[in-house]
Amino acid sequence: MRTTDALRGLECLDCSELLDPAVAGGRCPDCDGILDPTYDYDAADLSLDAGAVGSMWRYADLLPFPREAAVTLAEGGTPLVPCPGLAESWGVGEVYVKDEGRNPTGTFKDRGQSVAVTAAREHGAEDVALASAGNAGQAAAAYAAAAGLDAHVFLPERAGFTQKAMVEVHGGDLSVVDPVGGDSRIGDAGAAFEAAMEDDWHPVQTFVTPYRHEGKKTMGYEILEQLDWTVPDGVVYPTGGGVGLVGIHKAARELRDLGRVEALPGMYAAQSTGCAPVVEAYEAGRDRHEPWEDVETVCGGIAIPDPGASDIVLAAIRESDGGAVATDDDAILDAALTVARETGLEMAPTCASAVSGAAKLAAEGEFGPDDTVVILNTGAGNKDADVLRSHAGRRRGGS
Ligand SMILES: *Cc1c(COP(=O)(O)O)cnc(C)c1O
Ligand SMILES: [Zn+2]
Repeated sequence: MRTTDALRGLECLDCSELLDPAVAGGRCPDCDGILDPTYDYDAADLSLDAGAVGSMWRYADLLPFPREAAVTLAEGGTPLVPCPGLAESWGVGEVYVKDEGRNPTGTFKDRGQSVAVTAAREHGAEDVALASAGNAGQAAAAYAAAAGLDAHVFLPERAGFTQKAMVEVHGGDLSVVDPVGGDSRIGDAGAAFEAAMEDDWHPVQTFVTPYRHEGKKTMGYEILEQLDWTVPDGVVYPTGGGVGLVGIHKAARELRDLGRVEALPGMYAAQSTGCAPVVEAYEAGRDRHEPWEDVETVCGGIAIPDPGASDIVLAAIRESDGGAVATDDDAILDAALTVARETGLEMAPTCASAVSGAAKLAAEGEFGPDDTVVILNTGAGNKDADVLRSHAGRRRGGS
């Protein structure tokens, strides 16, 4: 297995055991904890790779695998778009949108799959497998195709048409999980994936592979570099499993420890009031979520009622002095249309939860006239064009 010089190994977040990445590829074999790549930071000089401009592999010094080993479609390197109109209307100093919609399959899931599928290939796997709400499945199918591997993708009935279709377009083995009592959801897809899992399938599932949050941390490197190594006051993130939030927080901690930045940005989880287990736990002062009972939201990418690593997400929010905010679907869809109409950026409903959430935080005084706020547009608006258009029609109709 080809790994970078700085990689020390995979550290279990529960029992602190340090494991050899050539042996471990999923959760901790001793305690089933989440494994986290750790580095010898003295050996990483963070020399940004000039040969990989426009790709997250520019930061390969602080990734587990070198650029020569990468399964890559030039993911990452996305723009940080200033939105002065939003800043003005909220009374906030500066607002930027990190536009992850410009990734190869239209979401930031590409960053996680690039590293996770690289790991699978380095392990000698021929098959990768996961359950997903949709976008991660599409990304896994694309990266498996790039690596010459087979992808087994388990999606719930309510995953979007585009995501289901593109899994098959990439040659993936798609299972749309049978409806249980009406329509199947992410939990049903997860159960079907676990039941079907074969010994020689390599998991690229959220927080089973140690590498998805690791790929997503490159969003944090890019944001801080794009802000000239100054630290925004808030990073507002549409939170499902919270993989990206944990990754961005990890990146900020690493850059602080390396002396590149002086502080940590406040990490804010945005959710829909129709599925807000992380926000509920944050507000109640708990270390872990309680499973959300009735999921009722059009924000498919963050409709995760039972996120497996909420303790890590909540710890990142608290360590960074951030917060958590939920707004309802109507406000979220309105925010997506406002952004599309006033800035030109295309944002899926899932991601617009971070816009309506940031607006609410500004209205509550959490963000003020001297603050810089970064919003993650985790995925492209045209993946859910039907949802956005029907909301636009309802608004026009005045109901
Ligand atoms: C998966 C997904 C999310 C949530 O990601 P996590 O990092 O697991 O919280 C947000 N937005 C979009 C578009 C997604 O596909
Ligand atoms: Zn362990």
